Amino acid sequence: MSSTKIKEIAVLSGKGGTGKTSLVGALAAIIPDKVLVDCDVDAPDLHLLLDPQKRKTERFLGGRKAVIRSESCTACGLCREVCNLQAISEDYRVAPFSCEGCGVCVHFCPVQAIDFPLAECGQWFVSDTRFGPLVHAQLGVAQENSGLLVALIRQQARDLAEEQGRELILIDGPPGIGCPVISSVTGTDAVLLVTEPTLSGLHDLNRVVELLRHFKIPGLVLINKFDLQAAVSRKIEDYCRENDLGLLGKLPYDPVVTQAMVAAQTIPEYAPDGLGREIGVLWERALEFLNQIKKDGHEIR
Ligand code: SF4
Ligand code: SF4
Repeated sequence: MSSTKIKEIAVLSGKGGTGKTSLVGALAAIIPDKVLVDCDVDAPDLHLLLDPQKRKTERFLGGRKAVIRSESCTACGLCREVCNLQAISEDYRVAPFSCEGCGVCVHFCPVQAIDFPLAECGQWFVSDTRFGPLVHAQLGVAQENSGLLVALIRQQARDLAEEQGRELILIDGPPGIGCPVISSVTGTDAVLLVTEPTLSGLHDLNRVVELLRHFKIPGLVLINKFDLQAAVSRKIEDYCRENDLGLLGKLPYDPVVTQAMVAAQTIPEYAPDGLGREIGVLWERALEFLNQIKKDGHEIR
């Protein structure tokens, strides 16, 4: 759970293409005294907007990989027989990309010729941006353990917030509803759900809401580009009412979102008087909602 003082807010969308990254970038520009975390460790993209300057780089040691010591191996062939993934070659070498670290070969090797060290699965970083510190990471190609890496960078963000007296952690969540998403939202105070007015957007929203309900985390919905399909937007509004979700608001389609992205700027930097101001108003509303949660102990029922 969050410490009593530091609030953690995650932004999720269920899938890509809803404008979530632009929105997180905008909130990064608006919210003072926060720590940013990019929890999309498989395909991080917040750095494209925020141009982080790395000041700390650490190795992420995730799963284990089998390594055969050829000098100890008697070539009995048992490890090849028990490895379901055919990760061991005829000359008894382990292909690291095929090995999933189950440890079965290690267990069965009669002469203990297989080492099982922790493997480097990626890196994580603490960076400075023009809007404050950002904790982010990059998981290696074809690596597992994204949930573990997300948990690690969230803890780093908490430590940093505590150390620097920052009261809010803003989390950019990954797409989908899998392990890294669960790791991104557990223990947060609320989740901001960015959706778009399409039937698939509604379907994805529903999947994420189920997840939040399971973890008893309050959700708040923002319909982005609502005017592109007003009828579906109304369906989403009905859905929010029926599911006790706070509707934070609706944003219209606006070409400045793409223009700002191309200019590598956040929306409030690029369009401070237009969409930037609207997002600022929405954030004020989100803060009211957060204070209300504190009073009511509100959660998705
Ligand atoms: S089980 Fe052990 S001894 Fe047998 S082939 Fe594999 S590594 Fe070599
Ligand atoms: S640890 Fe598991 S996956 Fe890796 S080589 Fe051994 S048996 Fe195969």
